[in-house]
Amino acid sequence: MNRTPLIAGNWKMYKTGSEAVETAEKLAKLSTGIISTDIMIAPTYLSLPLVTQKLLGTNVKVGAQNLYFEKEGAYTGEVSAEMIKDTGAEYVIIGHSERRQFFGETDKSVCKKIKAATEASLIPVLCIGESEKERDGKNTFSILDKQVKNGLKDFVSDDLKTLVLAYEPIWAIGTGKTASADQVEEVHKYLRSLIGQLFSADFAKNIRILYGGSVKPENVKKLMAIEDVDGALVGGASLDPDKFIKIIGFDN
Ligand code: PEP
Repeated sequence: MNRTPLIAGNWKMYKTGSEAVETAEKLAKLSTGIISTDIMIAPTYLSLPLVTQKLLGTNVKVGAQNLYFEKEGAYTGEVSAEMIKDTGAEYVIIGHSERRQFFGETDKSVCKKIKAATEASLIPVLCIGESEKERDGKNTFSILDKQVKNGLKDFVSDDLKTLVLAYEPIWAIGTGKTASADQVEEVHKYLRSLIGQLFSADFAKNIRILYGGSVKPENVKKLMAIEDVDGALVGGASLDPDKFIKIIGFDN
């Protein structure tokens, strides 16, 4: 098994360009010497070129929070995978629950976005997760099943070599409510076995599955100790470099 942990920060619609650069530079300094964990931050589109430039040669990689699946065209307000790649960014978050909830993202558009990302050699971070109502109704696994199967429809494992999966229960995002270790363990195990059935055991063994939902310095160690957890997607706690570095350094 060779799964380097990935700690990724989703900055959502926070920080101006200068604030993003300042935070990124501070984080890069704090993370000097960390080689056993991959680090990624996802600022807004506007800050991508500024931040990637500043982080060149550091341990901190950069990602976008979204993309549009067409290569170019009359799509006012949208940004393509090639445009993101051109900034020097390496990752892209796809299907975040806030995009599904507020911007009409569907499994179908997610699937097209994954294709666009892989064709542009960006690393896709596919977000999936159930709502509180779906969990209470015992539909967690059927929802995750649908999101994975439809989001990754018609791909073969060779297309998805770099794919990262992020399990983010919606009820745990930005709420301070973290999923319990048992809940996370159960879901991550399920997801790895589902990926194994859809692709191959070897592919499933190597794919990184992150947990996201109110990850903090205080709970990261416990979460990272769970067998099938290969990292974290962090919202709120990634905005402050002093806090985020404590999450990145979970193994210290
Ligand atoms: C997220 O936005 O992906 C997230 C997990 O947010 P938070 O860490 O704030 O819950």
